[in-house]
Amino acid sequence: MEFPLEEFKIKKDSYLKSRDGNSKFLYITCANCNEPIMIYQKDGKGGLLRCYADRIVWPTKLADRTAGITSSNLKQADLLICPKCDNVIANPMVYIPEKRFAYRLIPGTIHTDRSLKRSKNRLA
Ligand SMILES: [Zn+2]
Repeated sequence: MEFPLEEFKIKKDSYLKSRDGNSKFLYITCANCNEPIMIYQKDGKGGLLRCYADRIVWPTKLADRTAGITSSNLKQADLLICPKCDNVIANPMVYIPEKRFAYRLIPGTIHTDRSLKRSKNRLA
């Protein structure tokens, strides 16, 4: 997969308001093989521990396949796996305070870059 060239718009909603209104996009690649994994809207300060499905702007299928998953049927949710090297990147979870589906990242499995350009530069 290649990252799309399109520019995305920051999604603004109550989740964002509860996180001091600070958002950015992260271009996430597999730390093992550099395959693009997702473009993610990170809200608020702090490290990236989990990726909420409703903030995955690309690929949309990654967010779509979590539709209908709740804490009671979480076992049906897929692991997040690198499509190229099959490394397990994250485990499915539901963030209980907000009842939001998320992928809990396994430390050290990804690279994050602030832009497509930076992501490409890192590989150059
Ligand atoms: Zn990989």
